[in-house]
Amino acid sequence: MGLFLSIKLNGGEMKMKAEIIAVGSELLLGQITNTNARFISSQLSELGINVYYHTVVGDNAQRLLKAVEQAEQRADLIIFSGGLGPTKDDLTKEIIAQHLQTKLQQDDAAMEMIEAFFEKRSRPMTENNRKQALVIKDAEVLANHHGMAPGMLIEKEGRIYILLPGPPKELEPMFQYEVKPRLASKLSDGGMIVSHVLRFYGIGEAELEERLQDLLEHQTNPTIAPLAGDGEVTIRITAKATSEEQAWALITPIREKIIQRVGNYLYGVNDDSLASKLVEMLIENKITIAAAESLTAGLFQSELATIPGVSEVLYGGMVTYNEEVKINQLGVSREVIEKYSVVSAECASEMASKVKEKFNADIGVGLTGAAGPGEHAERPVGTVWIGIAYKNLPPLTYELHLQGMRNTNRIRAVKTAIYRIIQLLEKEGYRKI
Ligand code: ATP
Ligand code: MG
Repeated sequence: MGLFLSIKLNGGEMKMKAEIIAVGSELLLGQITNTNARFISSQLSELGINVYYHTVVGDNAQRLLKAVEQAEQRADLIIFSGGLGPTKDDLTKEIIAQHLQTKLQQDDAAMEMIEAFFEKRSRPMTENNRKQALVIKDAEVLANHHGMAPGMLIEKEGRIYILLPGPPKELEPMFQYEVKPRLASKLSDGGMIVSHVLRFYGIGEAELEERLQDLLEHQTNPTIAPLAGDGEVTIRITAKATSEEQAWALITPIREKIIQRVGNYLYGVNDDSLASKLVEMLIENKITIAAAESLTAGLFQSELATIPGVSEVLYGGMVTYNEEVKINQLGVSREVIEKYSVVSAECASEMASKVKEKFNADIGVGLTGAAGPGEHAERPVGTVWIGIAYKNLPPLTYELHLQGMRNTNRIRAVKTAIYRIIQLLEKEGYRKI
């Protein structure tokens, strides 16, 4: 049972149903993937708008027209991607204009942007570039800050038509900044929609849902939507209210209930990632880190290095892939490896302690395992040991049995290590969120 988001159309209350029409023969030929539909769908779901159909149609006037007519039978919001460019095969806006019995006219702001673009590059402008400044009469023009073709929003007879350019680097910001606010305000009848995301790691979707079952069953406003992917689970809490304050008054009690039950697995909120959260905690508390990496071969450090400001806390580390390198360069004892093998708690623990010492950091991390496809050190594929040495505490170790392909396992090992460090820091009294 979802929140019944509605929009006033035709003077009455109607549930908004959306259809996405991706235009482009390349899509049908398998040359490109329809990532625009996926992106738009996920954005619409954040707004609580149901997408009922994805349609893909080639650059063909008749078939595009048919697709529009079909969509009108089953949707009140129709979003087009592609075919706004300057070439002959780009015909989306021509077809829609014709279908809505209106015409195209020049948009002066768009024309100026196009002229400026060519001037800046000292390139002559061709006649068909002018075509890009043509927009459907009576459309709201959606600015394109990353390309030349403007987008359009048209409301007619209770339906909303939105035309967006094909290139994702143009479509995505246009959707975020031009489309989403407009849709949100249409949806909310003067009120507003606020959503808050909780991010979890180390718990499966099924288990999480089970622990929250009663909350998930009885949701109305706010809605609670779990989503799983890449070993992580998120829960989006979305409230509809007349003010932001009122929306938070709806969100907060649910948020607290969820945290009470599964807060142990919570690592962040909204746009946090595991890496950004860890780096934030390290910087805030001036805690430094170093890593000795075997199966991940630098991936752990590379992941932290995606976060700006990490140089304050990431001292560095070693890739110790080879056994002799583990012994001679890092200082893991030969006896430990001979007795327990390189894929063991003992080895991971020594890797963590040694790299902490060597780099004079507060935290040392050791990652070792059998990424696959073959077994390693007589350990089955997917066996990973993570060691974490923190200050003077005895090192912690964790064993994983991963089921993925080689590189998925390597990424999962990194994510788990990051999650375990966040957990450790929380236990040591540092604030997580
Ligand atoms: P342009 O001005 O670049 O011609 P356009 O709005 O006419 O833009 P298309 O010509 O249909 O769009 O597509 C341009 C490019 O955008 C494609 O080559 C492809 O790289 C990308 N693209 C188009 N449609 C999609 C889609 N549905 N999903 C992902 N990428 C797409
Ligand atoms: Mg094109």
